[in-house]
Parts: sequence; structure tokens; C-alpha cells
Amino acid sequence: MSKLPNTSTSIFTIMSKMATEYNAINLSQGFPNFPVDQRLTKIIASLAKKNVHQYLPMSGYPPLLQKIGSLVLKSYQRTVQPENEILITAGATQAIFTTIMAMVKTNNEVIILDPSYDCYEAPILLCNAIAVRVDLNDDYTPNWNRIEKAFSSKTKMIIINNPHNPTGKIWTNTDFESLEKLFEKYLDVILLSDEVYEFITFEQHHIAVHTRKKLRHRSVVASSFGKSFHITGWKVGYLVAPEYLMLEIKKVHQFLVFSVNSICQVAISEYLDLVSVNQLGAFYQEKRDYFRKLLENSRFKLLPCEGTYFQVASYASISDENDVDFCKRLVLEYGVAAIPISSFYANGKDIKCIRFCFAKDNKTLEEAAKRLCMV
Ligand code: PMP
Ligand code: GLN
Repeated sequence: MSKLPNTSTSIFTIMSKMATEYNAINLSQGFPNFPVDQRLTKIIASLAKKNVHQYLPMSGYPPLLQKIGSLVLKSYQRTVQPENEILITAGATQAIFTTIMAMVKTNNEVIILDPSYDCYEAPILLCNAIAVRVDLNDDYTPNWNRIEKAFSSKTKMIIINNPHNPTGKIWTNTDFESLEKLFEKYLDVILLSDEVYEFITFEQHHIAVHTRKKLRHRSVVASSFGKSFHITGWKVGYLVAPEYLMLEIKKVHQFLVFSVNSICQVAISEYLDLVSVNQLGAFYQEKRDYFRKLLENSRFKLLPCEGTYFQVASYASISDENDVDFCKRLVLEYGVAAIPISSFYANGKDIKCIRFCFAKDNKTLEEAAKRLCMV
């Protein structure tokens, strides 16, 4: 009877619940634990007294659309028309769901690269379409042989995620050139690019799809203020897409939510006048480096982390347990919650790696690392 018979409760819900239940330090679900910028909380407090509590236009608060247009221009030198090519969504999750619902038809195939974030497959299945899961290479670079083999006349969309959750990997210019070559052959395929961590990058430069002239006229780019302004619970994100795609996306959006949370949109719009996203990478790089240093003497082997606020660690030299059991034991015996990487694979591939979120204040990172060094 179920429309999603193989879909279960998300691992983020499971691990966060377990962290609360056992009073563990929660490095599982990705969210910051430090206070939101006071300038933003002041804006929202003052807005509460103003008349900003009713429906906004379906596409979003016009000044916010304009400011996102300026952000895209400033960050990537791409000019977009705010009123026709940007849509404010209830987080990137709704952005992605809406795009898939609007674009994908019965029996279409959508390529997903594993390990992958969990919100892509369900909307594909609800469209009676097929999710074609293709594993990345062992170093999490795209495997172009496998990807090319996965493309067919049924392919409608490929979903990519840069910087990548959970591995922090970032595609290179050569990766994009390979995709562009494939796109020359498969002219009807749409690219859905999940770039929610676009501003959280370190030594490696993030190549936005906005900058790819051969791709952007067929691309839908999803982003989220949750990540960029440390406000994951506000659930305000946005899509950028060419008008002919956006017209279809808006048809779904207007009946899924119609319009998004008014006071948060206005607050973000005003806040964008005060802040820049330029410091975000440096801010999280310091946290990444600190967390890695704290774990230097642990038995975990830390994988490279080029972006996002996630650190993947191998526990292969510590235990043979599967990663779900290992994460559960980590909560019960050491009081630290993490995410098993197998949950990002369709086939549950267990590579003995887990993911820690380092978007935490230093005290939390220190206490978590102290416990992890005892493992
Ligand atoms: N994509 C990725 C890769 C994510 O990590 C997340 C959230 N952690 C989302 C999409 C969803 O973002 P939002 O919370 O804005 O819905
Ligand atoms: N994106 C967050 C993560 O990767 C989780 C958000 C959620 O719980 N759905 O941890």
C-alpha cells in the first residue's frame, strides 16, 4: 500500500533522537550549536511588530529576490532576472522536491551519485520514475565511465552536490568538462545542482554551475540560507533556473506551499545588506582545522575535507563492526553521536566511515574530541 515502501525514518532523525535520549554530544545531524548573529535576531525582533505577517508574492519577497540576484552576480558574475529566474523555497529540501516533481515523468531515469544526501530519491519515486544510483570513486571523485554507462535515452536528470555532503569533496574543472561532454550528447537532460554549501569551502575553489556557460541554460541550482547564515531551522532556501524551467517549477511550487515564511524572508533580505558570505569559508576552515587537530591523537583516520561542515573519519583500525552499530555504540559508550556513511548509499555500502558535524562551538568540539580520543 505504501507509495514509498523502502523509505524509512531519516538517519538524521534517528541519530539526533538517540543523542537527546542518551544526553550525548550531537555531531550527527548537521546544524550549528552556536548563537545566531545578534544583528539577525534584532532584525527579526523588530520585524515582529511590523506588518510582515501575511502572504508574500508566490516567487518570494521582491527585495530578497533582487538581493539574491546581486549575490549570484557578485559571487559568480552571472546575471539572472530576479523576478523570472529565482524562487524562494522552504529550504533546499522543498526546492529539490519541487524541481523533481515539475521535471520528472513516469519511467524517466534520474542519476544520483552515491554517497548522496537523502532527499533526492523519494520525490523521484513519487513521480513513478527510476533513481539510477551510481557510486563515486573511492576518493569520491566522479567515475565518468560509470556515469556515462548510466546515461540513456530515458535519462531526464542528473543530480550533483558540490561541495559534497557527506564527504566535503568539490568537483574540479575537468569533472565539469566531462559532464559538459555528456550533455552535448544527451540534449534533453536537466542538471539539478545542490549547492547548499557553496560558501563553505576551504583551500579548494568551488566551481558553481552558474559559471558554466555550457550547463547553466539547462540547470537548476539549489541553495539554502540555513547553511550560509547558520539558521537551518528557518528553512529558507532558493532556486535559480532559466525562465523556461522556472515556469514549470513555479506551477508545482504554488500548490505545494504557494509562498514561503514572510517574516524570515524579510529578515534575511535586510540582513543581506549588513553581511557578506565571504568570511564563511574562513570561519568553518578554522573549525575544521581545530577539530582535526583535536583528533590528531585519536585512532580515527580523518579523510580530506575540502568544504561543508562535515568531517568523515574511518574507524577501520578500531573496529570491524558495521557503521550503524559503531555509531550506536559511540553514543552509548562514549556519548558522541555521528552519522554512518552507509546511510548515504542505496546499497548500504559499509566502508567503516562515519561523519561528524563540526559546526559547533569550540567547547563542544573539545569535549567531543576528548571522548573520541578514548575510543
Ligand atoms: N542538500 C544537502 C546536501 C544538505 O546537506 C541539506 C541539509 N543539510 C539540504 C540539501 C537541505 O537543506 P535545507 O535544510 O535548506 O532544506
Ligand atoms: N542536512 C542535514 C545533514 O546532512 C540534515 C537535515 C535533516 O535532518 N533533514 O545532517
